[in-house]
Amino acid sequence: MPITAQSVWDSCLSFIKDNIKPQAYKTWFEPIVPVNLQGNALTIQVPSKFFYEWLEEHYIKLLRTSLVKELGKEAKLVYEVKMENTYSSNNTHTVKIPSSNRNPINQQGVTVPLQLSKRELHNPFVIPGIQKIKIESQLNPSYNFENFIEGDSNRLARSAGIAVANKPGGTSFNPLLIYGGVGLGKTHLAHAIGVEIKDKYPEKTVLYISSEKFTQQYIDSVKNNTRNDFIHFYQMIDILIVDDVQFLSGKSGTQDVFFHIFNHLHQNGKQVVLTSDKAPVDMQDIEQRLLSRFKWGLSAELQSPDYTTRVSILERKLYRDGVEMPDDVVAYIAKHINTNVRELEGVLVSLIAQASFNKKDFTLSLTRQIVDKFVKNTKREISIDMIQKVVSKYFDMDVATLQSKTRKRHIVQARQLAMYFSKRMTKASLASIGSQIGNRDHATVLHACKTVDNLTETDKQFRKYVEELKDKLNSQS
Ligand code: ADP
Ligand code: MG
Repeated sequence: MPITAQSVWDSCLSFIKDNIKPQAYKTWFEPIVPVNLQGNALTIQVPSKFFYEWLEEHYIKLLRTSLVKELGKEAKLVYEVKMENTYSSNNTHTVKIPSSNRNPINQQGVTVPLQLSKRELHNPFVIPGIQKIKIESQLNPSYNFENFIEGDSNRLARSAGIAVANKPGGTSFNPLLIYGGVGLGKTHLAHAIGVEIKDKYPEKTVLYISSEKFTQQYIDSVKNNTRNDFIHFYQMIDILIVDDVQFLSGKSGTQDVFFHIFNHLHQNGKQVVLTSDKAPVDMQDIEQRLLSRFKWGLSAELQSPDYTTRVSILERKLYRDGVEMPDDVVAYIAKHINTNVRELEGVLVSLIAQASFNKKDFTLSLTRQIVDKFVKNTKREISIDMIQKVVSKYFDMDVATLQSKTRKRHIVQARQLAMYFSKRMTKASLASIGSQIGNRDHATVLHACKTVDNLTETDKQFRKYVEELKDKLNSQS
């Protein structure tokens, strides 16, 4: 009988089976497919890179012994990882990964093929390597602790972050959940933790990912039938940083898979860092069991920076950019921009740009102009609720009437106007506008918008309503 990959592998398996527990055999050896035998090199296909690592770590001796028995002292083992393409495109392809020489199999007589596959690995997180598969951290080194200004508003979160970075997985801050409004430094702090860990523990695998990207990868993995690979991949990480977990809300499949990954990491003493725009108690449409995990460690809030911190942040950025700005200008900005750090930076950038393009000095009057624009543009967003209130009041009815099922003409018109302004002045979808204005469907909202457009063109009185309402709504914001 000719020797084939299958026959060699079958013999290896029967030897391996005798030497390990049935459960381990089932988990780690049954899924392997022998794919090629060339000379004394046997190629086996494994389901994921995690799998490959596991084999190398735990079963390499066994594999070696069995292979040498079958193919002699010069035996070689080549892994093919049946791998997903970034979990994001459809074609599954194969990458060859040479059996690592971490355990010097050479001494035992098995030569390690050192050639690397010419085919590129398409997973953006993975760089092919001989020693160990490396995962790109996706960290931004310019977000570090050194340039994260400390203040009362962020002291707890910052110190917790440093504690975690010093001892990832080894503090009770696991997970560490950093929460707070937009532009307050969640992403910056999350990166800083990762960057610091990479610096202190270069051998640890750190991964930063936004929850949106995580969700997309998961969806793709389901589409491509690589869900297990996806899970294995994430279970390999030592420090997993997931930014903006609020985006997981309502996505039960992703939550479910994240729950399993989380448990695996947590049980194995790996560190999880999360950020969110809300405290766990205020998160909506997140499964209870996941929420309760979020609360296991520490939830630390980032608050709006106080005046002194705002001044320090501004000064720090100016220093970094080598820009000199009069103290009263800095003070003016810090006094008037009190919402978040991103806006502070925005004003600073505009001011520097204005001054340099127009060859102006950093005067208070220029600063005032720019700050004014910012403050106006960032006034609170108009909500559908507010639109309904303004429109009802204008037509002298209450919101319940506006939302009611009645077909009376003036009420229908008021309702349509509320829908029309909601579409124009908020970012809400037609469906969500409909559901908030008397539980109508998206087609009704679309129809309302068209009707208002038509009437505005043809009906003078109606046009007056629209103009006046527009003014009222604008003055609200
Ligand atoms: P979030 O993720 O909470 O929306 P970011 O982390 O993106 O906010 O922060 C917005 C900007 O403000 C970033 O450029 C960040 O570097 C900066 N920033 C936030 N907090 C601080 C701080 N304490 N010190 C220095 N820069 C900060
Ligand atoms: Mg962010």
